[in-house]
Amino acid sequence: MAESGLFAHVNNSIRSLATEAQVSDTWEFFCECPDLACHALVSLTVVEFDERRTALPPTPILATGHGG
Ligand SMILES: [Zn+2]
Repeated sequence: MAESGLFAHVNNSIRSLATEAQVSDTWEFFCECPDLACHALVSLTVVEFDERRTALPPTPILATGHGG
């Protein structure tokens, strides 16, 4: 997968805000679909976020119905 873009970077920053005690909390991440005008939010727990980031290949964070 190529450069995943600004929102992937922002999402990583959001992820870094979560402490160990908050891994089961739900956070609002930005949709990482190719549409640069898309500002949809995706609610994920940190655990779910990490599952996408560590998957091989990594799974982008996508709002419902947004293609990757
Ligand atoms: Zn989107």
